[in-house]
Amino acid sequence: MSASRALLIVCDGLGDRPIEALGGRTPLQSAFKPNLDRLARHGISGTMDPIAPGIRPGSGPAHLAIFGYDPFRYYTGRGIFEALGVGMEVRKGDVVFRFNFATIDEERRVIDRRAGRIREGTRELVQSLNDIRIPGVEVLFKEGIEHRGILAIRAPRLGWRVSDTDPQKEGLKILPCRPLDATEESQRTAEIINDIVDQAIKILEAHPINKARKAKGEHPANAILIRGGSYYEEVSGLQERFGLKGACVAGGTLYKGVARFVGMEVLEVKGATGTYDTDFRAKFEAAARALEDHNFVFLHFKAPDLAGEDGDALRKLEVIERIDRAILGIEELRDTLIVVTGDHSTPCSIKTHSADPVPILLSGPGIRVDGTQSFDEVAASRGGLGRIRGLDLMPILTDLLNLAAKFGA
Ligand code: ZN
Repeated sequence: MSASRALLIVCDGLGDRPIEALGGRTPLQSAFKPNLDRLARHGISGTMDPIAPGIRPGSGPAHLAIFGYDPFRYYTGRGIFEALGVGMEVRKGDVVFRFNFATIDEERRVIDRRAGRIREGTRELVQSLNDIRIPGVEVLFKEGIEHRGILAIRAPRLGWRVSDTDPQKEGLKILPCRPLDATEESQRTAEIINDIVDQAIKILEAHPINKARKAKGEHPANAILIRGGSYYEEVSGLQERFGLKGACVAGGTLYKGVARFVGMEVLEVKGATGTYDTDFRAKFEAAARALEDHNFVFLHFKAPDLAGEDGDALRKLEVIERIDRAILGIEELRDTLIVVTGDHSTPCSIKTHSADPVPILLSGPGIRVDGTQSFDEVAASRGGLGRIRGLDLMPILTDLLNLAAKFGA
């Protein structure tokens, strides 16, 4: 007997390091998680270097690798994945950036990188930016969440290797966009971006929404900070490459964007956000339903990474327990290969991503059960799967679904 479909659960930033306050254990080791432990007992475990040993992965490249797309080949920058994640229509050759609305003073010094975390009026502000005119170039803006948005530029022969204008720190001036290589294409893109930044400041400064914000003593959104330059190319999707009809259940736009990039259907689930307040159970139930008409479902939980970046080990432990409760009944999914892993470690002790490998388990019909008793970093390191890379996962998964092509005769 073997599985005919797969559910891949990625708990963002899941892996951790020993924490003194937890008696030298990780949050995952300390959490009460009977459902995950049962999957491990009935499955095969191992550890995974999402990109390669010693490489600290960003979430975008890590997910590309897990979906079977070499990040060194396919990852240009975050902008394009954010654009796809908010449903922006992009075309081959578009150069895409993320931007923040920000507050600057007369000398272009950044006072507030998020313009007071502006929420209201951003749609109108973004619309006003569509008045920016650059001869021979299409300039497209789309609003994102809160103070964030997407900028795409469309023209022949554009480069994407250009620097950010976001100085990343308040008190510093907006940076000029510079080419990061010696090509004419990148030079041209940098000039276009600098022109866009100038025009945006003029338009935003005069906008009634900002005048009203100033009158109320709020920070005006009088500038945009640009980062994450990237390039869009169409790739063959999971269906074509692996015979997988994919669906994605995620809250964060980056994850939806990567899923769309590789050809998954992105499901909108009520209450699913990329935050602590997400409806964990609604997401699991949506993923379980999606398995009825997809043979590959990707379910993403962001909360462990947020807790890791906050350095809050107890909170990380608690969100792992919430994920465990949310997947109650997972073993009743018939004919389903269940994979649980992370996209990288986010140790609470360093509050950022690390290269520590993540635990991974595969459970379902046809699996060689390896005797692992619990799902955690240490138990998994002794498991029968050994230590794999992110790019190994799809070949292993499609083989277990009997979809893999034979190598040679
Ligand atoms: Zn991540």
